[in-house]
Parts: sequence; structure tokens; C-alpha cells
Amino acid sequence: MGKLKINHEKVNDEVAERLIKICPFNAFEYQSGRLDINAGCKMCKICVKKGPKGVVEFIEEEIVKIDREAWKGIAVYVDHAGGAIHPVTIELIGKARELAKKVNFPVYCIYPGYQVLDSAEELLHYGVDEVFVYDYRELEHFRIEPYAAVFEDFIDRIKPSVILVGATAIGRSLAPRVAARFKTGLTADCTVLDIKENTDLVQIRPAFGGNIMAKIITPNCRPQLATVRYKIMAAPRRSKKISGKITVCSMEVDRFRSGIEVIKITRKPPEENISESEIIVVAGRAIKTQKDMSLAYELAEVLEGNFAGTRPLVEAGWIEAKRQIGLSGRTVKPKLIITLGISGAVQFTAGMKSADYIFAINKDPNAAIFKIAHFGIIGDIYEVVPKLIENIKAIKGMAGRTFTKYAAPVSRH
Ligand SMILES: Cc1cc2nc3c(=O)[nH]c(=O)nc-3n(C[C@H](O)[C@H](O)[C@H](O)COP(=O)(O)OP(=O)(O)OC[C@H]3O[C@@H](n4cnc5c(N)ncnc54)[C@H](O)[C@@H]3O)c2cc1C
Repeated sequence: MGKLKINHEKVNDEVAERLIKICPFNAFEYQSGRLDINAGCKMCKICVKKGPKGVVEFIEEEIVKIDREAWKGIAVYVDHAGGAIHPVTIELIGKARELAKKVNFPVYCIYPGYQVLDSAEELLHYGVDEVFVYDYRELEHFRIEPYAAVFEDFIDRIKPSVILVGATAIGRSLAPRVAARFKTGLTADCTVLDIKENTDLVQIRPAFGGNIMAKIITPNCRPQLATVRYKIMAAPRRSKKISGKITVCSMEVDRFRSGIEVIKITRKPPEENISESEIIVVAGRAIKTQKDMSLAYELAEVLEGNFAGTRPLVEAGWIEAKRQIGLSGRTVKPKLIITLGISGAVQFTAGMKSADYIFAINKDPNAAIFKIAHFGIIGDIYEVVPKLIENIKAIKGMAGRTFTKYAAPVSRH
């Protein structure tokens, strides 16, 4: 990395105007004869290359080599609400153990909260070496400043090489703040994680709209931070035996200062979440009208599953955004997923390819979805799906029953 330096003695009205014009990000501000660069700067350096000579300079930052030996262990942030641990935490513990084994690191958990010791013990059933609990009334509800302060204390104290955070609403807010505080890298929404012998974390995620899988490393900074969505990694089995230990940490309460005061907590009514479903029927653009969505609804109902869709159906307003699967939607890992007339674009498959069984129906034998499907039918969904529904009904002894949980039953073509 580096930074841009403005040589102010070379700035005048004409120079400022030229720079303002060439910057594609409107990152120059010229006020009262002073030129400044604002937060819009993307470091494209066009001002250095094409701007008036010598006015803006790029200063390379000296790379300070980190001492990898000083940073040991893989830590997982315990995502929770009032001690109810989000299952992404367990999935990340599983991944942390796998990575730790390769480089002979311990696995830690960092757990800020209030009266959370009992739930911290539960983590010892999953092979964690040490759970660091910060148990303070000030940490009862998630507030960004005190939680970031806990992270800072933990990192200074333990010096973990890697920190994994669930890509939940809390994790997505906390991880970037911690990364910025330690001037280190953070890769969001990793889909694959590996570790090199030299302890560099290999963070892999789709980039450029899913057209490439980017491999990201942070060789010059520690700790290395990554967020991972729920249902991307496999959760380890709970062992009956416990191992590891709990360490209760203390900190000066002063450091929990916050500009946020939690006045009242109102619980949202529980929402249906497709990520929790074991069977999902997904509708694709092959569905011609909104009324025909009943094909997916009824198949989902007879299978006692849920329904979802690809992005075009969300854009058409036929399904809610929370039912979109893919890179910009939800990630799911059901036992069975049935795709109805879906091509298999990478942006869609990124959100479902870890399903145990993928069953695709598409009339195009060359559709990419068949490359990842375990089973498939090459055919028209308008012919195949009604037959499938009838057959399932016959097998389950549901013949003649209508299903209206999601919407009106299928109108046959
Ligand atoms: C940054 C970015 C993020 C994105 N995120 C997402 C995302 O999260 N989720 C998502 O879904 N998409 C996402 N997309 C869009 C994605 O690229 C695809 O455009 C989309 O997934 C295509 O949806 P589809 O398969 O339903 O439609 P299509 O690609 O149009 O495929 C329709 C398929 O139906 C088949 N077909 C047509 N008629 C029939 C029939 N009667 N019977 C059987 N088969 C039939 C066709 O052969 C075709 O294969 C994203 C794109 C970008 C750029």
C-alpha cells in the first residue's frame, strides 16, 4: 500500500480544476485555496499519471515484515444474542480445527457477553482449546465500541494469527472495525479457507460478480481476519466429552464506553428462513408467469419443504428477496434441492452447491446446472413437475389432496 501526497505549493485554481475534472471518484475538494483528497479516493492513481506533473505523488509505504512466529492460534468469534450461540460459530470452530491441525496451532474462542459462562461451556464439546470469556454487564447487548474494545484486548493479549467471524449482521459490523484498528486485512464472505505452512491464511471468495474465484492472502499483517456466511462450512459433531478450558478475562470497565445506549429490546417475530430448510424447491426463469409459481409451491409442499427462487424472479417481484439463493441472496445447505428451469449461473450456484443432493430439471441438456447436479431430468418443467407431484402424492398416499400452504394449487397446462 501507499498514500497520495499533494504538493500544495504547486496547487492553484487551474491545477485544482484539472485534478477535479480527471478524478472519476470526485475525490478532490478545493476550498479556500486548499486542495484535499476525501474518502472517495480509490487509489486509482489517475491523478498521479494524468494530472499536472508533480502535484500529486504516490508515496510507497515501507513494508514492515511481520514476525509470524509471534502470532499463534486460530480464534473464532462467538456470535450470540444473550448467550444463545449462532450455529455459524460451531461451523467456524470446525473449520478452525481443520486449519489449526495443519500448522499445529491451538483453537480459541472469544466470547464477550453477560452471564454467558454456561453457554461458553457448551463450546468445549466441539474441540476448542481455550474459550476467552469477557463477562460484564456492559457487554449484555451488542454495541460496537465495547465489543471492539474486547477484541482489541484479546488480540493484544493472545496474538492470534487468524480470526474467523460469522458473516451475520453483528459479525459484518464488528470484523471491519477490528481489522481497521489493527491495520490488517479482512476478507468478507469467504467460501473456502486454507492455510499455508508459513501460517498465511488463504482466503477464497467469488469476485467480479462471481466470474473469478479470488485467492487472497495477507502476508504482511497479523491478525488475519475473515468472515464466512452461515451454512458455508460443515459443523463438527458435538462430542459428549469436553476438552479445553475457559478463561475469564478482565478489562478496565472504562474501555466499554459507548455512544450507544440500549433502551429497549423488541424481539422480531421468528421469520421463516430458507437456510434452515432441509428440502428446497427453487424456481428459475423458466417459470413463465407469476401464477405458474404454484408449480414450485406445490412441489415444495408435497415434499414438506420450502421454496425459493433465482434473482430474476425476485427482480420480477414474484418472490421475496429473502427467498433468493446465491451470491447476493442466501446461502443454503439443505439435504435436497430441486431446481426448476435454472441455468446454473455461478452467482446462483455459489449459494447452493454444498447441498447434499442437487436434482435439476432443465430442458437444455447443456445447462451448467447439470455439471453440479447429482440427479437430473432433461425436460420441460411444465410437463415434468406436475407428473412428479402426482407420483409423490401417490407414494405418500396424498392422492386427491390439494396443497394451499404457499398459494393456490397448480393450474395444469
Ligand atoms: C453480481 C451479481 C450477483 C448475482 N447474484 C445472484 C444471486 O444471488 N442469485 C441468482 O439466482 N442470480 C444472481 N445473479 C444473476 C445470475 O447471473 C443469473 O442471471 C441468474 O441466476 C439466472 O437465473 P435463472 O437460472 O433462473 O435464469 P436463466 O439463466 O435465464 O435460465 C433459465 C433456464 O431455464 C431453462 N428453461 C427454460 N424454459 C424451460 C422449461 N419450460 N423447462 C425446463 N427448463 C427450461 C433454460 O434452458 C435455462 O437454462 C447475479 C448476477 C450478478 C452479476
